[in-house]
Amino acid sequence: MPLVNAKEMLTKAKAGHYAVGQFNINNLEWTKAILLTAQEMNSPVILGVSEGAGKYMCGYNTVVGMVEGMLETLNITVPVALHLDHGSYEGAKACIEAGFSSIMFDGSHYPIDENIAKTKELVAICEEKGLSIEAEVGSIGGEEDGVVGAGECADPDECKMIADLGVTMLAAGIGNIHGKYPENWAGLSFETLAAVQEKTGTMPLVLHGGTGIPADMIKKAISLGVSKINVNTECQLAFQEATRKYIEEGKDLQGKGFDPRKLLAPGVEAIKETVREKIELFGSANKA
Ligand SMILES: [Zn+2]
Repeated sequence: MPLVNAKEMLTKAKAGHYAVGQFNINNLEWTKAILLTAQEMNSPVILGVSEGAGKYMCGYNTVVGMVEGMLETLNITVPVALHLDHGSYEGAKACIEAGFSSIMFDGSHYPIDENIAKTKELVAICEEKGLSIEAEVGSIGGEEDGVVGAGECADPDECKMIADLGVTMLAAGIGNIHGKYPENWAGLSFETLAAVQEKTGTMPLVLHGGTGIPADMIKKAISLGVSKINVNTECQLAFQEATRKYIEEGKDLQGKGFDPRKLLAPGVEAIKETVREKIELFGSANKA
């Protein structure tokens, strides 16, 4: 099945009270692990690509070529969207050109008027080309490829303003942050989330920084209108831990253990396991 945009899968998720996972990719192993797991669990999936990861993978054209090749060769039949994560204005345009099916324009660091003007322009382009588009209000804390946010809570009225521009999905800061959560993290602001949901109605809401948010908070967020949850760091940690174990056990020194296909295999399995757990938790299994 060719790439699809994220509109239909997220509309269904919002109506069905579950969430679709966005799993960020870094290379071939990551992409293959996520696609195979989504297919195995019969779940829709969104592959997220940050601008830094896009650059690392030799540019957006390479990413589109790799993902489209896998969809065909692995015979993937579940809906898959290829989504730019935290795109700049220029990055969004480049991904539209390269054949992504979905983009996020992160204008949260602009004054609201400028965020609106740029979002409007990109909404029109995406509409014409059949892409879905995510906007962000209220910067999300932590660090994502150099974009550092303060972890604020979004203003529900600003969310309504941006939602009305015709975006497909909206990321609102609700105290969530990227990366690992610190010990003294205050938790998600369900008060903010409920207020945003009330103002934006059927608009699918996006929760960034899904790594390490306790399962009960994830479930409550879904019940309050979150229909897309971004997972990035958790797959990285799982991969790192499994790879470290392989090397510490000296397996790379036994026989042909140095073969990259063997060396990277435990990490790939760990990513699969993480994605499996998240799909279970988000409730998107068998929703393809
Ligand atoms: Zn994010």
